[in-house]
Amino acid sequence: MTAPSPLETAANADAPAELTDGYHLVVDALKMNDVDTIYGVVGIPITDLARLAQAQGIRYVGFRHESNAGHAAAAAGYLTKKAGICLTVSAPGFLNGLVALANATTNCFPMVQISGSSERHLVDLKQGDYEEMDQLAAAQPFCKAAYRISRVEDIGRGIARALRTAVSGRPGGVYLDIPAAVLGSIMDAEEGAKTLSRLVDPAPRQLPAPESVDRAIELLAGAQRPLIVLGKGAAYAQADAQIREFVESTGIPYVPMSMAKGLLPDDHPQSAATARSLALKKADVVMLVGARLNWLLNHGEAPQWNPDAKFVQIDIEAKEMDSNQPIAAPLVGDIESVVEALIERSKPGQIAAPAAWREELGARSAQNVAKMAERLKADPHPMQFMGALKAVRDVIRERPEVYLVNEGANALDIARNVIDMHVPRHRLDSGTWGVMGIGMGYAIAAAVESGQPVVAVEGDSAFGFSGMEIETICRYKLPVVTVIMNNGGVYRGDDVNLYDDAPSPTTLMSAARHDVMFEAFGGKGYRATTPAEVTAALTEALASGGPALIDCVIDPSAGTESGHIAHLNPKGITVGNITPAKK
Ligand code: ADP
Repeated sequence: MTAPSPLETAANADAPAELTDGYHLVVDALKMNDVDTIYGVVGIPITDLARLAQAQGIRYVGFRHESNAGHAAAAAGYLTKKAGICLTVSAPGFLNGLVALANATTNCFPMVQISGSSERHLVDLKQGDYEEMDQLAAAQPFCKAAYRISRVEDIGRGIARALRTAVSGRPGGVYLDIPAAVLGSIMDAEEGAKTLSRLVDPAPRQLPAPESVDRAIELLAGAQRPLIVLGKGAAYAQADAQIREFVESTGIPYVPMSMAKGLLPDDHPQSAATARSLALKKADVVMLVGARLNWLLNHGEAPQWNPDAKFVQIDIEAKEMDSNQPIAAPLVGDIESVVEALIERSKPGQIAAPAAWREELGARSAQNVAKMAERLKADPHPMQFMGALKAVRDVIRERPEVYLVNEGANALDIARNVIDMHVPRHRLDSGTWGVMGIGMGYAIAAAVESGQPVVAVEGDSAFGFSGMEIETICRYKLPVVTVIMNNGGVYRGDDVNLYDDAPSPTTLMSAARHDVMFEAFGGKGYRATTPAEVTAALTEALASGGPALIDCVIDPSAGTESGHIAHLNPKGITVGNITPAKK
């Protein structure tokens, strides 16, 4: 007999169906597990899957490139603590999505990339199928786990397994391979329904051992210069009230990592963000909360850190401990449970940051804030990063509900310092890899998941990696305002090719009109050459609630190469001293 097409059955969803197929079972399993949004790019063999998901009430957001759909799914996972779903087609589409899957895994964001794949028997004998690739093997090194569903009756199990793996323990990216033949397989509907299940407690609490809590309390209680580092794991954990209670009841100064900005408001009196260097250099006991001692924290090494510092680390991943420095008091568990245990097991007043230390940091903060205020006062022409970003800061300060997405080199470094955050999980940026290309994907997810306005502050180079998604933003009429720091180059726009008149490797078109490009898709474009124009444009754009893009014309000689991480460029003998070869 001829099986009903997924669409025929979808249109007829209320009628008792005797048969079902892979498409329906995938959608039913996702819905049973509260998946309400899919980010993807359609094509063979998953187009009908997207159509059916939409017909069955799942929101489908269609992108122009799979990396961006994947980044959106990852951001959705970070923001909601549920696995974000990215749907990709076989081979090339799958590979495009893999960048995002790897980035999600590196950042500990839960997502599942579901990809259609070619016929297994042809792939395995390398017979040259359409978009042939052993996708399961290719995905394996780039994610937390990779699974394949080989039989239609395993769809429920495969999806349950993928969703649980993504969110439990240390969150990460999961690859789920579904060959075309499985999607098209038919089975008895009643039997099919029995194969699906709803996950019970997919990310269970993980309580720390009492003795490890007491060890940490003792260390913190004896500290002269204690410090808390809040990372994006702390923001992800959604233990905002417990973290605030612990910080405030102990008086310990804290520094937020960039995506933990706003977990406590940046103007909190205990924030040592503006005395960061001093805090790291002098702290004698450091408690890391959902923050790894990786390159972003100089691996915990001197001279940035006190070489005698002792570390307390709260992390759900036991093997994170000692990865860079010996951890004197490891606290393995979920942040909410661990912080609750610290509060419960410490006596009132037992952990208290000495006043002298708080005052020392406070004095340095006041000095640095005054210096920054002086720099922000300057309003040179042509416009500099600082001027444009101060204007952005002043507008969004009035609107704490705004999500901020941020990538670039100088655009990232300067915005991170200038723009304060006041609400948890409202800042999404280049993260652990310092990756470029997350911009539009993260912005779209933030808007879709929250329904709130989003401002994406983008370097002109960074924007290019996901720029085509402005069509997606306009198509879905999302409240995303993209603000481009356009200095006409990667890092800066005035680099010169010494050899001939071709553009230098870091040159982009400084005359580029991103605002005009945006208008081509029906959005509102602005061009701003002064901070006052940035203020006016951003105020109007946010008030409109619709898609907008502001092209900020920045001095091409503004910006430093590689921003704050120039030291990561290897130093060869020619660096900064390149002489052209003779023709
Ligand atoms: P940052 O870049 O902000 O310093 P990282 O990404 O390096 O943050 O660190 C986040 C850490 O948080 C990871 O080591 C991860 O295992 C951990 N983590 C994530 N979620 C939780 C949670 N719910 N409880 C405990 N640790 C968590």
